[in-house]
Order: sequence, then C-alpha cells, then structure tokens
Amino acid sequence: GFNCGIVGLPNVGKSTLFNALTETAAAEAANYPFCTIEPNVGRVSVPDPRLDQIAKIANSQKIIPTQLEFVDIAGLVRGASKGEGMGNEFLGNIRSVDAIVHVVRCFDGEVTHVDGSVDPIRDADTVETELMIADLDSVEKQIVTNAKRAKGNDKEAKAKLEVLNAVCAVLQDGKPARTAEITKDQQDIYEQLQLLTSKPVLYVANVEEENAATGNAYSKLLEEKAATEGGVCVIISAAIEAEVASLSDEEEKTEFLSDLGLEETGLKRIISAGYGLLGLLTFFTVGPKEARAWTVVEGSTAPNAAGAIHTDFERGFIRAETIAFDDYIACNGEQGAKDAGKMRAEGKEYITKDGDIFHFRFNV
Ligand code: GDP
Repeated sequence: GFNCGIVGLPNVGKSTLFNALTETAAAEAANYPFCTIEPNVGRVSVPDPRLDQIAKIANSQKIIPTQLEFVDIAGLVRGASKGEGMGNEFLGNIRSVDAIVHVVRCFDGEVTHVDGSVDPIRDADTVETELMIADLDSVEKQIVTNAKRAKGNDKEAKAKLEVLNAVCAVLQDGKPARTAEITKDQQDIYEQLQLLTSKPVLYVANVEEENAATGNAYSKLLEEKAATEGGVCVIISAAIEAEVASLSDEEEKTEFLSDLGLEETGLKRIISAGYGLLGLLTFFTVGPKEARAWTVVEGSTAPNAAGAIHTDFERGFIRAETIAFDDYIACNGEQGAKDAGKMRAEGKEYITKDGDIFHFRFNV
C-alpha cells in the first residue's frame, strides 16, 4: 500500500489530525475496521461512492475499500538532523514513506509554540531545513565513496556520482532534492538514494475552527509557498476534524460540516490531494463475495494492477477482462456489459484507467 508520513513541529496539531483521520475512516468503513498496526500507524479507508454502486449491482456480500496508510511521525525539532530530540529515529521513519503530509500551524490561540510565535513560513522552513541538512550529509558521504570508485573507472559509480553532484548542488543552494534536474535515465539511481526531500509534500494548513471554510492570512502564505514549489496545500481545522470524528450519525456529520460552510471532511480532501500528489488511481474487482477497490500508480499496466492483488497474478498474467466503470453502471453489471460488447480483453501492454473493473486471467 501507499503511505504518508505526517510531520511538523511539535504542537501544530499532528496527533489531533492523525486521530481524527483514523477515527473518521473507521466509522466510514464498518466492513473493514481501521487497524492500528502501531500506535502511530493507521490505515485509512479511501471513501469512494463508486464502490458502493458496483457492490449494489453485483449484490456483493462484502465491500472492501482501498486504503492509505498514515504514520504520525513525532519528534521533529530544530537540530533533528544532528540527532537532537528523537532525530535519527525520526529521519528513519520519514525515509520509508511515499509522501509527506506537512502540518503547519496556522491558528493563533493559547497553545504554546516552540518558537514563541505563529509564523507558518518560518515553521515550514525549519522542518525543511532539517530534512535538507540530513540529505546533504548523506549525499556528501556518498560523493566521497563514489568519487573513489569512479576514479577506478567504475561505470556505475560514475553514473551515481553525476546524480549525487546534481542533487548536492541544489541542496547547497538551500533547495530540496526534488528540484534537481534528473534525466529519465538517471531516475532509478535518484530513487535509490531515498532522499527525504525527494518525496512529494502535501502541506496541511491547520487553521482555527472559524477559518476552516475560508482559510486565513497564515494559510494564504502557505498556499503561496506551495504554489511556487508546484506543490499542494489543503486547509483544514484539526479541531473540527476531531469533532466530526466523534459524531457517529452521517446526517449529523453533514449538517455539522455544512453549518461551518464545509462540503466534505478534511479526510476526503487530504485523500484526494494525496491521490493527485502521488499520481494514484483506483481500480475495482467485483463478485458475489466481495466488491473491492485497489490503488496503483498512474501508468501501471494491467499486469502491474494484477500484482497489486498478488504477485502470482502478475507473474502468470494472461489477460484482463475489463469493463469501464461508466459502462458497468450503464449496462447494469457484468452480464449487461458483456451483452453490449463493453467487456474488453486487454493484454500485457494495457495501461490501467481510473475506475476500471478487472477480472484477471492468469496461469498458476
Ligand atoms: P502535535 O504535537 O503536532 O501532535 O500537536 P497536537 O495534536 O497534540 O496539538 C497540540 C495542541 O494544539 C493541542 O492542545 C490541540 O488541542 C491544539 N490544536 C490542534 N489543532 C487545533 C486547531 O485546529 N485549533 C486550535 N485552536 N487548537 C488546535
């Protein structure tokens, strides 16, 4: 699955948000209880009304949404890259996530701020600087070892050295690794470096309750920062999300949100922003037993999609019997789609589209 690490300075609302996300997700997916793997890791079901529509038509016994994993990564303080606080553990946790959800305090109020005042740009920069310093340390070390090997005419080391130098230059310039110009051929080497600042970032501006619908002056600054980086910023109020999470009744939730001028939960907005950021899409499998949603990255072939279910499915892939979601609904299910000639047999080269309903044929 895909996972997002929630980072930010202390007291910005990370835990409040993490708890709200996972509780809301648990309430919305009764068939797939939210499971806590570790206290700070939660799997969140991705709300998708299409899945319910498919399940209804197929009369499926079970509905299993696809999931994103969130990790609440505490412990970032100034100096973390030098081992301050829980520095090393913190950095290790970030290394293993696919994307970073960076929570930034955009609310005033009594809550203590580690740097004494509310300043979202300074705060975001503090966090990013720690990540860039850690990357620079790692890159500089690797430059030394690879430079030695490159002198001995090691081709691999030479190629790696080029990438390391490109990344080193932007880091020294105070910019994240993701701004380095990496060619297509260098992409694999770049990804193997597992740099903290190569990961996509979703900023979350945590505003006070009364600013949840409109944002405020602080969140505007953060949105501008995100825009100049080609990034994404979502405005939420963690306090509101926590209240929504505590409501069990769907109607009550909707009413509570609409009173505040909100159309959907922060969870939904974070998930759709996260999907966009990571370039993810959803496909479905459906039968009388279960209707299930799965997540893959854009550009995944039909065998890659089969592999999301089981590696054997990918290895023994023969073909994917495919119905587009709209056809499935318009034809009232699989039989209708078959009769209307809307079920296609797709081969190894087929690129998965969002909403595809697949039956995989494979050799075991
Ligand atoms: P963390 O250290 O980043 O995990 O922060 P917490 O989630 O523990 O929150 C720190 C404090 O800020 C708590 O007292 C929260 O109640 C408060 N807080 C979090 N989100 C909001 C918010 O949206 N509005 C206000 N007013 N307070 C908040």
